[in-house]
Amino acid sequence: MQLLRRGDAGPPVAEVRAALEAMGVLEASAPSGLFDDALEHAVRVFQQQRGLITDGVVGPATYRALRDARWSLGDRMLRFDPAAQMTGDDVFALQERLLELGYDSGRADGVFGRQTEQALRSFQRDYGMTPDGMCGPRTLRHLGYLGRKVTGGRPGLLREQERLHRAGPRLSGKRIVIDPGHGGSERGAAVGAGGSTVTEADLVSDIARRLEGRMAAAGMEALLSHGPHDCPSDAERAGFANTAGADVLLSLHVDASPSPSANGLAAFHFGTGNGATSTVGEALAGFIHRELLARTRMLDCGVHPRPWELLRLTRMPAVRVEIGYLTNDGDRTALLDPGFRDVVAESILVAVKRLYLLGQDDKPTGTFTWAEVLQREEGRPAGV
Ligand SMILES: [Zn+2]
Repeated sequence: MQLLRRGDAGPPVAEVRAALEAMGVLEASAPSGLFDDALEHAVRVFQQQRGLITDGVVGPATYRALRDARWSLGDRMLRFDPAAQMTGDDVFALQERLLELGYDSGRADGVFGRQTEQALRSFQRDYGMTPDGMCGPRTLRHLGYLGRKVTGGRPGLLREQERLHRAGPRLSGKRIVIDPGHGGSERGAAVGAGGSTVTEADLVSDIARRLEGRMAAAGMEALLSHGPHDCPSDAERAGFANTAGADVLLSLHVDASPSPSANGLAAFHFGTGNGATSTVGEALAGFIHRELLARTRMLDCGVHPRPWELLRLTRMPAVRVEIGYLTNDGDRTALLDPGFRDVVAESILVAVKRLYLLGQDDKPTGTFTWAEVLQREEGRPAGV
């Protein structure tokens, strides 16, 4: 190709100008085919950003980089074509995302090669899609990209950590979505007890209300994912939390088993089991689990990564807890005690506080009290 430099004119210059304007590197002006001083400056800025030789001249490397920069993920269908490999910033963003999720797409280089295809197929297989190696709208949705603009940064799981570190230790101002499991005519686990029926939906909505009240008292903004008469899908619950811009989502459930001896407490956070995990979600699940175990003496059924829709589609750390088994006599008796449900709500609140303290707290698990949490929030006396 012919080199373009200051003083040149014509349609190729107009094309370079339009590309730099679209990126915001060059101020938009009337359509012009002239390579002027402003354009030369913009070319230098672009070259510097991309690690190219900063000479203000558009040669083959700069021209290729300008073409690649036009694409952002979601603009077109991406696939492996051995005859003409696709290149672009969208391919780069896809590779970064796959690497972040634990799929080895090789070095992120913006070229859709065979290894990128293999990594994409593995991802699709793990997430229950047809492993066709093509990245279209459905795959993007599963990658968590739909509906947000990707600008080439490192989104997703790493962003959660940055956000947590910026959030500060205070609970006040944090927005929490509390998601009581089931709802409406969906009652979840149900067991006849003492002539009436106890349902999971009743118990978890009661715990949700106790938690909501305490969070409000601590200056947090607690939102319920749905009203008592609806049972949204997991995707809808996740969508609610995303739209609300929540800092954390907490999903409350009680388990059931055909075996009456099954009992105990389990917590779940996003993870695929192949190394990709929400580290903040895992930390929060661990805090909730340990606080609950220490205060309730329930059996430890572990903290587990799961690729469930609710955990996968939420853009903030999300934890699901299964608070005992309704089908177990001991767990059910505890759950039917309002005092126990208060302890559950306080354990979860203290766990959220610990998350924001980033391990700076000095209190052993199970000893941080509700009154102390309030006291640590600005100017609030203990014992309120
Ligand atoms: Zn449930």
